[in-house]
Amino acid sequence: MELWYTEKQTESYGITAKVKETYVHEQTDFQQLAMIETEEFGTMLVLDGMVMTTDKDEFVYHEMVAHPALNTHPNPEQVLVVGGGDGGVVREILKHEKVKRVVLVDIDGKVIEYSKKYLPNIASGLDDARVEVHVNDGFMHIHDHKNEYDVIMVDSTEPVGPAANLFTRGFYQGIYEALKEDGLFVAQTDNPWFKADLIQSVNRDVKEVFPVVRVFWANVPTYPSGLWTFTMGSKQHDPLAVDETAIPERETKYYTPRLHKAAFVLPKFVEDLVK
Ligand code: SAM
Repeated sequence: MELWYTEKQTESYGITAKVKETYVHEQTDFQQLAMIETEEFGTMLVLDGMVMTTDKDEFVYHEMVAHPALNTHPNPEQVLVVGGGDGGVVREILKHEKVKRVVLVDIDGKVIEYSKKYLPNIASGLDDARVEVHVNDGFMHIHDHKNEYDVIMVDSTEPVGPAANLFTRGFYQGIYEALKEDGLFVAQTDNPWFKADLIQSVNRDVKEVFPVVRVFWANVPTYPSGLWTFTMGSKQHDPLAVDETAIPERETKYYTPRLHKAAFVLPKFVEDLVK
């Protein structure tokens, strides 16, 4: 008998993948967690029925959360990741030699535990000496830390359940205060096909808090519509002012110095959303 996993991306549309094996399917204190083996994408982490990451395409999202932000800040020593318990963003951050300390704050310890067990290539950086892992609400952490971080990365689930308040103006204000005077942040901000309203409201809120706001995108096949956006808010440094010829080549599969500014060129219908 064939078993297929389907993510309902809207009430009338979804994507589906053939399942070879189910390793974990449980309700944690915060969300429904599944770790499944698919034929096409390898091991897949699913939270509350939404694909979080897969072995095959994880590199796109994790590289694009980490590298555009770190290559925009001239001296990113102290970095915070909110969410990101699978460890993929941390793995990419550790490729930057200037980074001295990475703090990861995920609300759900089970994501961290199962990612280490079933997604070892993604979670590989979590035990690095530069990394501190905290199981806590990112909203609380942000509000308890002032003027501490150079770069903050928000690698959260969608704005439902535990992540609902990570997409609010109050959260962006907290991020502003947790950053040092030339700090910047980046957040995953969903897709323009089914979540145009979210992209618009995040853009409006971030613009009320940060003087420099830029949106960029990447192609992530297992995320709804495949076209994923990220929003960067910065106190000073502009990703579009970076001299990309000075960015060192690092071991990546999606991001390159050539792509740094190109990723900020938006399709017209997305440009219109964030004008
Ligand atoms: N890349 C994924 C995506 O965009 O679909 C998200 C990655 S997944 C690792 C996101 C993580 O955010 C989950 O591990 C979840 O536990 C965590 N999370 C959700 N709400 C949170 C909160 N309030 N504070 C900290 N972490 C949170």
